[in-house]
Amino acid sequence: MELSFYSKYPFTKGAKELMSSAKVSDEFKLSEMARRRVISAIKDGKIPIMSTELEDSQLLLQIASYAVSRMIVTLLKSRYYINRYAVAEAKRANAYLTRDSDESVLRIARELGIKCDIDGYYAVGFEGYLRYAPKSPDYKLVNRKLVRGKVRLRRAEFIRILEEAVRLKIESELPLKIENVPDRINDSAEAVKGEIPKEPKPASISLEGGEFPPCVNKLLENLKTVENLGHTARWALAVYLLNVGMKPDDIVKVFSTSPDFDERVTRYQVEHAMKRGYKVPSCASMDFYGLCIANCGVKSPLGYRRGAVGKYTASGKQS
Ligand code: SF4
Repeated sequence: MELSFYSKYPFTKGAKELMSSAKVSDEFKLSEMARRRVISAIKDGKIPIMSTELEDSQLLLQIASYAVSRMIVTLLKSRYYINRYAVAEAKRANAYLTRDSDESVLRIARELGIKCDIDGYYAVGFEGYLRYAPKSPDYKLVNRKLVRGKVRLRRAEFIRILEEAVRLKIESELPLKIENVPDRINDSAEAVKGEIPKEPKPASISLEGGEFPPCVNKLLENLKTVENLGHTARWALAVYLLNVGMKPDDIVKVFSTSPDFDERVTRYQVEHAMKRGYKVPSCASMDFYGLCIANCGVKSPLGYRRGAVGKYTASGKQS
């Protein structure tokens, strides 16, 4: 039972303790599994989930492959690869939690320091909610029911919050401080380098005769430092860039450094926003979304660039 739990959630304290004393007999198989795990995470943005009805030796390999994967990712020496790997591990945890019992979901929440109980719905402590809730209007506190200081959530919404907490936990624990790396792990890291896409270069946006407003600059900066933007932030940035005349191809390049970047999905979303002719949200709406970071004295981020005469272009390499 515990092995099965830890194979699904190898980032937990119990799994770590288990690995400090467990011995995996097939080192070659372990390196191979870890190599595939990292390649899948970075190349496809996801890690396939496995049956939890496997033999103990297989479950142990699963847990150990997480530990070795973290060493391999560390050896890639890139914040972009680390963050992309963390996104995929967090999505994997989400997939298991979705299928798992309420008891397991609560156990993971406790492990991540999120207070929660179930009383017909998930009631989540304020602090954890504010820290991990996605930055989108749906999760704004004004749109939520509060009962005795706790936020009511549906199960899928709560698991989404746990996904974010797992992502941040994994991100914050990497890179590892490692010395004396075994040859086989160094070899695996070299093999991974040959099989993953190159790290994308941040698109540099040039603009003649005008400046981006602080809110847009902040979102562009976040992308350059390979931070994941929330759904609304992405949408607002894409709509802003479309409205100032940037081409969809160039906008897709701007998003290519996002750790969960998927070119097909991004292109679809940008082209969809263009077809629908979405207008840039007002400053009041940006404030409501938590995206306004200054008081510029304008009503719309578009107003900030009035007088700008230049063309917006982006250059950068996609992976
Ligand atoms: S006031 Fe408007 S333009 Fe300025 S940061 Fe806020 S949303 Fe952006």
